[in-house]
Amino acid sequence: MGDPRGFVKNTQRVPEARNPIERLGDWNEHYMYFDEEQRRKQASRCMDCGVPFCMSGCPLGNLIPDFNDLVYKGQWKEALRTLHATNNFPEYTGKICPAPCENSCVLGIIEPSVTIRNDESSIVEKGFQEGWIVAQTPKERTDKKIAIVGGGPAGLACAQQLNRAGHNVTIFEKRSKLGGLMQWGIPAYKIRKEVVQRRISILKQEGIDFTLNCEIGKDVTWADLKKDYDALVVAIGAEQPRDLPAAGRDAKGVHFAVDFLAQNIARIYGEKEATEGEQIKAAGKNVIVIGGGDTGSDCIGTSLRQGAKSVVSFELMPKPPQERAEHNPWPQYARVFKESSSMEENRNSGGQVEYCIATKEVLKDEKGNVKGLKTVRVEWSTDDHGRPTFDEVPGSEETWDAELILLAMGFTGPVIQGMVDELGVELDLRGNLKTDDASKMTNLEGVFAAGDCRRGQSLVVWAIAEGREIASNVDTWLMKKASLLPRVRLTPYRY
Ligand SMILES: Cc1cc2nc3c(=O)[nH]c(=O)nc-3n(C[C@H](O)[C@H](O)[C@H](O)COP(=O)(O)OP(=O)(O)OC[C@H]3O[C@@H](n4cnc5c(N)ncnc54)[C@H](O)[C@@H]3O)c2cc1C
Ligand code: SF4
Repeated sequence: MGDPRGFVKNTQRVPEARNPIERLGDWNEHYMYFDEEQRRKQASRCMDCGVPFCMSGCPLGNLIPDFNDLVYKGQWKEALRTLHATNNFPEYTGKICPAPCENSCVLGIIEPSVTIRNDESSIVEKGFQEGWIVAQTPKERTDKKIAIVGGGPAGLACAQQLNRAGHNVTIFEKRSKLGGLMQWGIPAYKIRKEVVQRRISILKQEGIDFTLNCEIGKDVTWADLKKDYDALVVAIGAEQPRDLPAAGRDAKGVHFAVDFLAQNIARIYGEKEATEGEQIKAAGKNVIVIGGGDTGSDCIGTSLRQGAKSVVSFELMPKPPQERAEHNPWPQYARVFKESSSMEENRNSGGQVEYCIATKEVLKDEKGNVKGLKTVRVEWSTDDHGRPTFDEVPGSEETWDAELILLAMGFTGPVIQGMVDELGVELDLRGNLKTDDASKMTNLEGVFAAGDCRRGQSLVVWAIAEGREIASNVDTWLMKKASLLPRVRLTPYRY
């Protein structure tokens, strides 16, 4: 701990974001960075706690007090090495992680927490600027061939770890670029696609093979892939979107969020996917986004940047409290109201979020085009077993104009039918790939699962953790001896 009085002398500060109206004119990232001196001050606030709860809050177990201390001392290269010891891709988490670590920070009991995520982001950006982040190829190769299906953060982290162990790794990806939802879902104003691809080009230099535009189950059968490789890791995400069970759902102009977001990213970057399928555009339209999570938020920001006439967001749940509720104490993840950058932009553009509202019907015109929604307000209570439940409020029906409706109500699991039919892989009760608790292997010998397709729709930081842990399991199984690859705990701490 470089400065024992750092947290007394310095208050929490985060760099100002770009103006919420101005930034709607482009797709550049909305946040900015501190200079080194300001960053060192922020890192000095870390108290180097004897029991650093931030580390158990981080799914990767990042060595947070250590890298904060190194930043404070100006030892950036060593800070980068410390960060990479537990996190393959800190530039991704540094930009888009909701930072559960900060919710568990001990300083957070009495003051705003240490700005862990921003510290992480500054370390890795400095690493790239200085040219310290370069390919690390293994000294020796084994004779083992591993196929990884899916090039999202789980597949990429798993590939890098297995490649470090000397195995021959090929990633199969159905799209034209790797990155999963970081490339094809999360908008460029949260993470530029150059940032996603910068790391992927290093993975290629390290010797990992990529087979793009190849959908397993369609272009190559699951059975052939299993036959041709010594081990198979399935990391295909949880792509099945939850649908809207309402009359009129078939109206033209009702779309799933990721279809809209992916096409937009492809359009900005001139990818071939931009011209595939129906063109979904928000320009000049009244847009309603159903679902208030990350995905819904991304639809708001993207619609505004495309020039929507108005954007309203619907959320079935009540607005979260401003402060932690009694049953949600530190160091748990704080379930409190947070205004996302897109919600801020919408508020400044005259838009709003409606809470406790449910869709009754999609309204369409005589040509079948969507023209609005019929809704009802709901009231939440708890049932006899203490579970949350809601009732419709009588007489609260309303109609809303909309020419574009985006469904962002979450995901129900992986698109896996081909694999179930061809290989007989077992699913769990939630429709995700079922794996053995210890080995993380599915019911099929040599077939493993990692990321959202195993744990359900989650976060990038959990996907990286999954990739690292499953790599260690694959290595142990292949080599018939304990792996030297680091292990990761895949269940959150229950404080
Ligand atoms: C719109 C949106 C915004 C989000 N925002 C955030 C955020 O701000 N912060 C955060 O931490 N998390 C966020 N998430 C969640 C996060 O993106 C995911 O949890 C994470 O990407 C999961 O990683 P994964 O590797 O398991 O799966 P994915 O990222 O979904 O990657 C799976 C890959 O497998 C490929 N694939 C699927 N089937 C096949 C097949 N049969 N053959 C070949 N390839 C296949 C897909 O094309 C894809 O590239 C967001 C999610 C969405 C949808
Ligand atoms: S990866 Fe996420 S949880 Fe872990 S230290 Fe970084 S911001 Fe915090």
